[in-house]
Amino acid sequence: MLSFEDARQLVIRRVAERVGPARTLPLPVCEALGFVLAQEVQTDRDYPPFERSTRDGYAVRSSEAAAGTSLRCAGEIKAGDTVTSPLTSGTCIQIMTGAAVPPGADAVVMIEFTQRDGEIVFFDRPTQPGQNIVPRGSEARAGQVALKHGSRLGFAELALAAQVGAAQLLCAKKPRVAILSTGDELVPITETPGPFHIRNSNGVSLAMQVHLAGGEPVLLGNALDRIDDLSAKIELGLREDVLVLSGGVSMGKYDLVESALNSLGAEFFFDAVAIRPGKPTVFGRCQNAWVFGLPGNPVSSMVTFQLFAIPALDLLSGAPARHLPFLSATLEEAVKEKANLAHFLPAHLEWRGSSPYVSALRWQGSGDISALSGANCFLFVPHDRLDISAGEKVSVLPRLDVL
Ligand code: AMP
Ligand code: MG
Repeated sequence: MLSFEDARQLVIRRVAERVGPARTLPLPVCEALGFVLAQEVQTDRDYPPFERSTRDGYAVRSSEAAAGTSLRCAGEIKAGDTVTSPLTSGTCIQIMTGAAVPPGADAVVMIEFTQRDGEIVFFDRPTQPGQNIVPRGSEARAGQVALKHGSRLGFAELALAAQVGAAQLLCAKKPRVAILSTGDELVPITETPGPFHIRNSNGVSLAMQVHLAGGEPVLLGNALDRIDDLSAKIELGLREDVLVLSGGVSMGKYDLVESALNSLGAEFFFDAVAIRPGKPTVFGRCQNAWVFGLPGNPVSSMVTFQLFAIPALDLLSGAPARHLPFLSATLEEAVKEKANLAHFLPAHLEWRGSSPYVSALRWQGSGDISALSGANCFLFVPHDRLDISAGEKVSVLPRLDVL
C-alpha cells in the first residue's frame, strides 16, 4: 500500500503533467486575496522613490555632527514635503519619519540623541554616514519584477501590488471543485433527520476546505447508494475540474463509488493509502476531471482532503504544490497506536513561551467531529514509531484554518 508521501507525490506528478495554461480573469486588488497571479507585475519606479528618513530627528552632514558638537536648525521637513534645497554647511534640518532627506545631508540623527536650545541642536553621539536613511531604489528598482507569474496573492503581495500601482491584477480562475456526498443515511442540513439518518456535514467541511485551498466549490448534494443515482450525479461532477466524493469507497456491499466511476471510464492511480484515518482514499481521472473518492467518516474526509486534494488544487490554480507544513512539538501524554499505518490524530497544540506542546484529544474514532472541532492540528504518528512516550518530539500537521 502507498505511503501518504508517495500518494501525495503521485497526485502532484499526475496533475502537474496535465496542467495547462490557466484561464484568467482581471480582479481589483482587494478582491484578489487567495488567487494566483497570472501575469508579472513590475515595479513602476524606484523604492523608496527618494532618500527616506527612517526616524524623527535631524538631517545632517555626518562630518559636522560628531558627539559634543552643535548645529543651527534651519527648518523642518515633514513626510510628503517637496524637498529641493540642499542642506547648507553648518546647519541641520528637523526631519520626520518618511520624509525625503535633503540633498547634502548624509545622515539622520534620532531626536532622542540630541538636545535643543532654541535654534541650536547639540549632538550626544557619534554620527555615521548613511545612518537612518534608506537610499533611493534600495528596496526595488524601477522596472524590476515585483511579483512573479504564479505567485499566491496574500496580504503582503497585494500590498506590494498596491504600492507599485497595480490596482487590477490578472489572476488565474479558481479551479471548480464539485462536491458530492454519498449515502442513504444522509439528509440535507436544512432537513430534520429521522432517527437513523444523519445530516450531510461533509458537504460543508469539504466546501470550506475547497474555499481555503483556493478552489471554487460546486455543491452537488448527496447521491444514494444506488448505481443509477450515483452515476448520474457523478456525471454532473465530471463537468468540473475536480470531483470530490465522500463516502462509498470502503469494502461494504453498498460502497459503489469505484464501480460507478469505473463504468464511466475512470483511470485509478491509487485506491488505498497506508494512513488512519483515510485508508480507502481513491484518486483517479475520469473523462476530463480529477477525482478524489474520500472516505465518508468526517475526520477521514478532512484529513485526506488536506493531504491529497490541496496539492492538486494548488497546481490547478497555477501555483506550485504547497508542502505539508509539519511542525515539531513536545508530546504531553504518551500515545500508542496498534495498526501498522501512519496516524493523523486530532490534537491540540499550545505554546508555553515559544515552545510548542501537543496532546492528542480523546475521540471515538474518525466519525467524531466533536473531537476535531476542538483540535487545531493533527498529531502525526509514523507507522514505524507507533508507541511514543511523553516528552518526545513529534510532528504535527496544523489545521489550516485555525493555525
Ligand atoms: P462510508 O465511507 O460511506 O462507509 O461512511 C463512513 C461513515 O461516515 C458512516 O458512518 C457514514 O454515515 C458517515 N458519513 C458518510 N458520508 C457522510 C457525510 N456526508 N456527512 C457526515 N457523515 C457521513
Ligand atoms: Mg456510505
